[in-house]
Amino acid sequence: MFADRVLSGMRPTGGLHLGHYHGVLKNWIELQHQFECLFFVADWHALTTHYDTPEIIEEHVWDMVIDWLAAGVDPAQATLFIQSRVPAHAELHVLLSMITPLGWLERVPSYKDQQEKLVEKELNTYGFLGYPLLQSADILIYRATRVPVGEDQTPHIEFTREIARRFNHVYGKEPGFQEKAEAAIKKLGSRKARLYRDLRNRYQEQGDEEALAAAKSLLDEQQNLSMGDQERLFGYLEGGGKMILSEPEAMLTTASKMPGLDGQKMSKSYNNTITLREDPESVTRKIRTMPTDPARVRRIDPGTPEKCPVWQFHLVYSDEDTKKWAHEGCITAGIGCLDCKQPVIDAILTEQRPMHQRARMYEEEPSLVRNIIADGCEKADKLAQETMREVREAMGLDYS
Ligand code: SF4
Repeated sequence: MFADRVLSGMRPTGGLHLGHYHGVLKNWIELQHQFECLFFVADWHALTTHYDTPEIIEEHVWDMVIDWLAAGVDPAQATLFIQSRVPAHAELHVLLSMITPLGWLERVPSYKDQQEKLVEKELNTYGFLGYPLLQSADILIYRATRVPVGEDQTPHIEFTREIARRFNHVYGKEPGFQEKAEAAIKKLGSRKARLYRDLRNRYQEQGDEEALAAAKSLLDEQQNLSMGDQERLFGYLEGGGKMILSEPEAMLTTASKMPGLDGQKMSKSYNNTITLREDPESVTRKIRTMPTDPARVRRIDPGTPEKCPVWQFHLVYSDEDTKKWAHEGCITAGIGCLDCKQPVIDAILTEQRPMHQRARMYEEEPSLVRNIIADGCEKADKLAQETMREVREAMGLDYS
């Protein structure tokens, strides 16, 4: 219904590493060229699990933004902002909480999963239970149409869709809706009004989904309608009331294949990471001391690449010829492990070189980062207020 807009956030709870780059940031960098994108530092989300260690969040906020910029996220293409600097997220969160049944929150799978995983934390809190709703507010406040998520996060998007539907159902029924919708149709001009009515009839009488899609794109193209009239006509198509909050779609992203230095998933908690801006000497040292297939005790012992974490790095970084060379060299003991590691070291350093270059400017002049975020927050706040005006009015909170 609204123009395509992508929203994605990241929690500032630690330095970013190559797993984040391959799992999230590379995707953001592609998306920023295809869609209007909003990327935010999810500091309130971080507090839901790190409420007792706020210093961790404080320490990582700016560093994380520099990591984004270093990786190639471009503030000229995407809006970068900090969640807590746009307080309307909290306002929408509290307003949505009025219509959110507790059972919906309790059945979000990550609620129980995370509580079981993070046993050392006391997560029997209101903030933790409500965090999927805060996430819904993040998405709905920008009328984001697409949200990149991994498979495990799709229930959160489904939850957000349910919240949007419930909100529209409860608050979309304004007095005189039909008359206002009919008046809005007239504003389309006679030819488009006829087309709109025809498509609406086809959808409502015959369930013709193509007619519905055509009518939606007809409305998308209308520049001269106010936001309120546009919402009415979208809602009128499907027979209900105003469509104030729009339902987002999940954009499924494939899980990162980035292994850690020990072959497990790369993660700070496993202490097996290479950070995004790690210095080249440290990267070289870490790879050179990485464990390999234990069968290769001596240089003349053949090995099995599939049992070696270095091989997994080859799968991420090496071209076919290099992979063939490493595989054959390993199983025939034709190469030593240090020989095998060198192309991986070279590839990581090559990947990181432009990141170091881009980061230097921001490290030397932190005010540049502050300004990027200040601009982004201002832009995000403006978009958020467009939705909030409609939401407040619908909930009877517009006292002007
Ligand atoms: S040769 Fe390469 S793949 Fe084989 S054990 Fe050594 S580092 Fe691993």
